[in-house]
Amino acid sequence: MPTPSLKQQQKLADLQTADKHHFIHPFTDSKGLAEKGTRVIERAEGVYLWDVMGHKLLDAMAGLWCVNVGYGRQSIVDAVAKQMQQLPFYNSFFQCSHPPAIELAQKIASLAPPHMNNVFFTGSGSESNDTNLRMVRRYWDLKGKPNKKTIISRINAYHGSTVAGASLGGMSGMHEQGDLPIPGVVHIAQPYWYAEGKGLSPEDFGLQAAQALETKIVELGEDNVAAFIAEPFQGAGGVIIPPSTYWPEIKRILAKYDILFILDEVISGFGRTGKWFAADYFDLQPDLISIAKGMTSGYVPMGGVIVSDRVADVIKQDCGEFTHGFTYSGHPVAAAAALENIRIIEQEKLVERVAKDTSPYLQSALQQLAEHPLVGEVRGIGLVAAIELVKDKATHQRFDSNLGVGTFCRDACIKHGLVMRSVGDTMIISPPLTINYAEIDALVAMATQALNDTYQYVQDK
Ligand SMILES: *Cc1c(COP(=O)(O)O)cnc(C)c1O
Repeated sequence: MPTPSLKQQQKLADLQTADKHHFIHPFTDSKGLAEKGTRVIERAEGVYLWDVMGHKLLDAMAGLWCVNVGYGRQSIVDAVAKQMQQLPFYNSFFQCSHPPAIELAQKIASLAPPHMNNVFFTGSGSESNDTNLRMVRRYWDLKGKPNKKTIISRINAYHGSTVAGASLGGMSGMHEQGDLPIPGVVHIAQPYWYAEGKGLSPEDFGLQAAQALETKIVELGEDNVAAFIAEPFQGAGGVIIPPSTYWPEIKRILAKYDILFILDEVISGFGRTGKWFAADYFDLQPDLISIAKGMTSGYVPMGGVIVSDRVADVIKQDCGEFTHGFTYSGHPVAAAAALENIRIIEQEKLVERVAKDTSPYLQSALQQLAEHPLVGEVRGIGLVAAIELVKDKATHQRFDSNLGVGTFCRDACIKHGLVMRSVGDTMIISPPLTINYAEIDALVAMATQALNDTYQYVQDK
């Protein structure tokens, strides 16, 4: 690590002071942050970030699960600049449209499962899930079933941070602030075998977790349920990958009852699992798919909902005006970024490369960490993974949460040059889809050093 110059140190101090006085950060304890000082990231290239002190970090989180094509893509910069010159903004309300949004809707329809051929554009994943809530309720109104309003979600799901997004999500810490969830959203158990499957095989636990959906539908009455929403694997919840029995059983239940299925692919979409969409990975037929993040690789904010023919036919034919939308729905500059992002993914065959090459390499390299005395489980699919830090490997017993073992490990990673995130004591990664073998080797080496440091830390406790 290079020694920072006095100038760099002064720059960081000035930025941290201004940050502390004027910037309220998302999902942050501001007081704690002000004491520690923010980490100020200044530039990035490929899978690497540099902070203002010149410290280089391998970004194993792809920003926030989004920079799928990696940093520093000049062709996205050029596409965005060109679009800004030609038409920086126009709306798609009032009988208007523009080429980038039209072209993007058509492109996404071509990549999505065959029964899904329409897109409703939003500005973020949260807005996509707000859109879902309004669209499924409107759908059932138009079908003459206005009582079908309730949406079933799952504990510890993440569906965004707007009022509807946070309500659909199952994060208790979010519900506690702001009187959430709103009425008409209920939550069932999550398929988190490692934490909650005590005494059951993963397969039996997966079945049990899925059957909670049927129990809830029966309890509420099918005529009151609009939809079930789920992430293919929970991301922010801790990269929770359901046991193999879970999705087939959910599919059986969805086929039995007439409710809609919303698949939140904000993380899993655009190649993360080695398929364009995790719907294909898990063989699911959702009615609606939420997208954002990897849609533009985060270069410009954008989200959307991919709509099945079943729902689109009703919304487009029978609805009259669907009284919903955003100023920036289908923003031309964001659409231009998304189109170029998708072009890169196709040209560089990143989806196939993840499936056949880098996913097997990463997942097998990470399995070496399962031998570490601190590690209870390593799990992953495609280019996401989780490492469970535990006190007792045999019983899955965790450390006292006051020890902050996950946070210690995250900070140790940073010291060694790696950005890995912690969810409690679960360490998670989701690197850019462009990551190569050498970078994966570096990632695993730095993670090993951080695990060793963390093991030292817990010895003294
Ligand atoms: C990030 C995320 C969201 C929210 O997206 P924003 O763009 O932050 O509003 C929704 N669902 C999932 C699964 C996510 O990971």
